[in-house]
Amino acid sequence: MDVVAETDSVSRENGDGSHGQRRVGLLYDDRMCEHYTPDGDYHPENPNRIRAIWKKLQSAGIPERCVVLDAKEAEDKYILSVHSKNHVNLIRNISSKQFASRRNKIASKFNSIYFNEGSSVAAFLASGSVVEAAEKVAKGELSTAVAIVRPPGHHAEQDEAMGFCLFNNVAVATSFLLDGRPELGINKILIVDWDVHHGNGTQKMFWKDPRVLFFSVHRHEFGTFYPANDDGFYTMIGEGPGTGYNINVPWENGRCGDADYFAVWDHILIPVAKDFNPDLIIISAGFDAAVGDPLGGCCVTPYGYSVMLKKLMNFAQGRIMLVLEGGYNLDSIANSMLACTEVLLDDKPISGSSDGYPFESTWRVIQAVRRELSTFWPTLADELPEKLTSQKAPHPHILISSSDSDTEDDKGSKFVPKNLEDVLQDVIQPLSKLKVNEDSHDQVDATSNSWRSEFSTISIWYATYGSNMWKPRFLCYIEGGQVEGMIKQCFGSMDKTTPKEIQWKNFPCRLFFGHESSHSWGPGGVAFLNPERNTKYNTCMCLYRITLEQFNDVLLQENGLSYDIESPLFDLSALKTTTTKEFNFQEVVKGAWYGNAVCLGKEQGIPILTMTCSPSNIERFKYGKLPLHAPCEAYATTLIKGLVEGKQLSEVEATAYIEAATKPL
Ligand SMILES: [Zn+2]
Repeated sequence: MDVVAETDSVSRENGDGSHGQRRVGLLYDDRMCEHYTPDGDYHPENPNRIRAIWKKLQSAGIPERCVVLDAKEAEDKYILSVHSKNHVNLIRNISSKQFASRRNKIASKFNSIYFNEGSSVAAFLASGSVVEAAEKVAKGELSTAVAIVRPPGHHAEQDEAMGFCLFNNVAVATSFLLDGRPELGINKILIVDWDVHHGNGTQKMFWKDPRVLFFSVHRHEFGTFYPANDDGFYTMIGEGPGTGYNINVPWENGRCGDADYFAVWDHILIPVAKDFNPDLIIISAGFDAAVGDPLGGCCVTPYGYSVMLKKLMNFAQGRIMLVLEGGYNLDSIANSMLACTEVLLDDKPISGSSDGYPFESTWRVIQAVRRELSTFWPTLADELPEKLTSQKAPHPHILISSSDSDTEDDKGSKFVPKNLEDVLQDVIQPLSKLKVNEDSHDQVDATSNSWRSEFSTISIWYATYGSNMWKPRFLCYIEGGQVEGMIKQCFGSMDKTTPKEIQWKNFPCRLFFGHESSHSWGPGGVAFLNPERNTKYNTCMCLYRITLEQFNDVLLQENGLSYDIESPLFDLSALKTTTTKEFNFQEVVKGAWYGNAVCLGKEQGIPILTMTCSPSNIERFKYGKLPLHAPCEAYATTLIKGLVEGKQLSEVEATAYIEAATKPL
């Protein structure tokens, strides 16, 4: 049957003629692409996000099978039910001519916000669209709906835009159904926020409201992950009549994947949803916990999202809405949204599989949440059987060690590396239950370590210009451990021999600070080096004589990689070429923040190597395409300690030296 996707039609029957079956509403509008950075600079929350999703759904023939809805601007009265008048007025007027000269200044007063001429219309459309779709689902005109909207909403608070969010779209629609259209009979709403960040705005808006069960699973890391406060902790359970109706599942670490999310669904969300018995479910569907996301650092697959969604469709008579929040890898968000939409269309069984177990930290968090909430949800009162909780992947910090950089594109493995079982045995939890291929164990062990013996005979100088200038901090990368100010432990190198020799040297290059936060230090920039020779600058570096094998392991840790590698990061012949010329680059970890080894010359005939970001990122830093960020206090203090204890600078000089490095390139 020929069906033409007319995106401008208001609504129509299912194209495949499946009347009476699942009617899935689909909402997308190009006008929401009018919100973008005023200077055209790259920003992860950009119009291509929703375009990519729409294109993917179109190429899969999805719109023809859905009821395509038109976007509508939200009426003030609905937005005002969760936002202040001041805030609504600001967003309404921010795109007008009279605000043009002040727009950037106003945006800078908020946390992670930009405005342009298209921001107002996009914000009103995003909220209005979710309201529109929610009404149709509540009325039963649609079974379910997917709202591909931006700007996202869940960080937006009552009186404040925040974290790329202008209006809290999901909260506006929730309040609209409960208070604006009580005759539709929607009295209890479950909001499931699976965006990798905590839905701080939504939490606050329904904090005391028992009609809304707000559930958020997010990276928290003890308050260091954005929005970097305690609001997302599991002890935040609501207040007054809303006590017990706010559930946070705060991950202690990144790298959580399908197995971790499924465990939370099975042992927290689904039992509670059964008891709460919602009339409608709205998913704050950010896809930044998806594998490949540059900000999220988690590993949820499209299959994982399908399963999570499918499990929720058993409630509220299937009345469920997906509302886009974050998600910044265009392929990941498009594939994930496609997988979810196919589940809503209910046309085929979910295919795929997920191996592996949850992290130990996942079980710890699940048990803490269950204990905290068991008085309100008796179904959570039982202790989980040990048989279940003993099924765990090794601690992520051991495989993915502490690092000064977030690895942007590494997918990581959470299974124990085949060649490492013996090495890790005495440091981590009993490994007997882990998925280790016993048969191939010896064989892999023998072959994969051969490069190590070769690399252990090659000496290099590792030139450090960041926190590693302080010897006790650097030794964490060799011996393992953690020093004051660090929020994560390092695993150390395979070879734990301390450096043979240490010396200091100055180099004519520019030191600078970039990146928003790091695994080791939390929010704040970390040091990078522009290795171009420029006699205007004098960067003080501490050189450690270690082996190439150890340098390889330091690079793994800096870039958040596991030891599960069959071959070294370095190509020895390429390394020889790198070391023939000063300031030569070799990319050793593709796309990672410290993925480039640079030769700074030789000392006593031994090459001096350091690590920094790619030449293209250095250009981006130079021209402001990537933001510079001053270091956090703990990180700066460590650098200063290194310079002072290394007898290079006085404390006053060291402080000024760090301060100078925060200037634009
Ligand atoms: Zn997010």
